[in-house]
Amino acid sequence: MKPSVNIIWLKRDLRLNDHRPLQLAIAEGLPAILLYCFEPSLLNYADSSERHWRFVYQSLQQMQKVLESHNLVLQITYSEVIQTFRKIQDHYTIKFIFSHQEIGNQISYDRDKAVKTFCKNNHIQWNESPTNGVIRGLKARKDFSKYWHATMHEPLFEVDLVKLQTIDTGELLTTIKTNERFYKSITAKQPNFQPGGETYANTYLNSFLNQRVAHYSQQISKPMESRKSCSRLSPYLAWGNLSIKQIYQTALKAITQNGNKFNINFFISRLHWHCHFIQKFETDCSIEFKNLNYGFDEIRNTKNDLYLAAWEKGETGYPLVDACMKCVMATGYLNFRMRSMLVTFLTHQLWQPWQAGVHHLAKQFLDYEPGIHYPQFQMQAGTMGVNTIRTYNPIKQSKDHDPQGIFIKKWIPALQNIPEKLIHEPWLMSDMEQNMYQCIIGSDYAAPIIDSKTAAAFARVSLWNTKKSKTVLKNNTKILAIHTNRKNHEDDNNLQINFS
Ligand SMILES: Cc1cc2nc3c(=O)[nH]c(=O)nc-3n(C[C@H](O)[C@H](O)[C@H](O)COP(=O)(O)OP(=O)(O)OC[C@H]3O[C@@H](n4cnc5c(N)ncnc54)[C@H](O)[C@@H]3O)c2cc1C
Repeated sequence: MKPSVNIIWLKRDLRLNDHRPLQLAIAEGLPAILLYCFEPSLLNYADSSERHWRFVYQSLQQMQKVLESHNLVLQITYSEVIQTFRKIQDHYTIKFIFSHQEIGNQISYDRDKAVKTFCKNNHIQWNESPTNGVIRGLKARKDFSKYWHATMHEPLFEVDLVKLQTIDTGELLTTIKTNERFYKSITAKQPNFQPGGETYANTYLNSFLNQRVAHYSQQISKPMESRKSCSRLSPYLAWGNLSIKQIYQTALKAITQNGNKFNINFFISRLHWHCHFIQKFETDCSIEFKNLNYGFDEIRNTKNDLYLAAWEKGETGYPLVDACMKCVMATGYLNFRMRSMLVTFLTHQLWQPWQAGVHHLAKQFLDYEPGIHYPQFQMQAGTMGVNTIRTYNPIKQSKDHDPQGIFIKKWIPALQNIPEKLIHEPWLMSDMEQNMYQCIIGSDYAAPIIDSKTAAAFARVSLWNTKKSKTVLKNNTKILAIHTNRKNHEDDNNLQINFS
């Protein structure tokens, strides 16, 4: 007879603390296979980038270190998860699979549906714990906020590793080293990126709450300063090195210990947004592909490959836009306002469908979280219907948030010598100035690919006219009922900071 085992299936929950599936598996008592699968189908999906998997691997390595000190084993495989379960089944009888609920992209959703069928057909019980403050199957928003706050105040799910028994499956499963190229790329050193793992996550958390938070609200919109004064916790949340509850409870303690109440509450409100957006995606995952409000389906449908290539490479001729793109490509991080500006430049100024740029940025963001990324992208693109339409003027943003051009010059060396008064609109330089500052527009640095003022005026009229159309208004009623809680002012316009 085959020995019975449980499986703890790790996904976007790469930590050993506040971990309900681990806690449940320990309580259930059977020896367990602690498993992470690098799934080729997910690795090859349009939103996937090696930077994500490098972060995942670093997180797993840190877990492995702790587990080894308890003589425990973490199995890391390079294979589809069902294939892995089948191999395990050849030698063991799987009783339970413990995991967190994943609110992921289409391919992970399809895979989860297949796992459900597999479990049903093989008499395996799949126990999925909720992820952070998101409610599976929520039909209306009425109770979301109440549930979220209650969840945040629950005790952490303690994990007593002393009581955990893991099984080493030896040669049974395919290791990641079988794909040499992939293994090499995810183990390569990349010092520009935040490193993955629980220890680093806690280091960022503590340094933020004890020091960096002091300038948080004041500098949140600045492309340069925000890199230090924002928490930088997003990749640790996206890949589950920390839970929202752990951060929330540590933040409340920090208020009592260090003060900084205003800034910490400002931060806590964003932890709520994190789940608020993911809840939208949980409720309607077609947001990955389709306009939330189908009233926008008729406009902005033609792709322009030249515009797209310029935007993707950071060669639009608008210095702040280009600096932001080059920065996020090199480091995986950008603050909220600059992300919004990149999207509105694509959708409002270049008049491109949001779908044409959504994967490019997903691949650049180290913190790529489908449940935030797609709703935010649509919100900035103006296709939700229920939000105010915002257009970020790239010249004004530049003057307001990088007045001396320090961020711009860091990422676009060709603009190095240009003085403050010309850095935001280098195309205004005379021939003599271009020679003097060694930057010939159209050769050393791109000439603007569009006229921002004309483009924004066209976008404003088209988007507002569409927004007022019967189809959009009709669809808004449904969207408001499903995705927002008007009574508690929980709609997205209230969630936004005022970006005038
Ligand atoms: C087009 C677009 C795409 C985005 N894609 C992602 C994404 O894939 N993953 C992601 O984590 N964030 C995304 N964001 C939201 C936001 O920009 C980042 O969460 C934030 O910049 C991360 O930096 P931080 O951790 O220093 O944030 P802080 O300001 O320190 O905030 C703390 C945490 O709150 C949450 N948070 C903050 N702002 C938002 C927001 N506007 N919406 C939802 N949650 C928020 C994040 O989990 C963040 O880590 C996107 C925003 C836009 C405009």
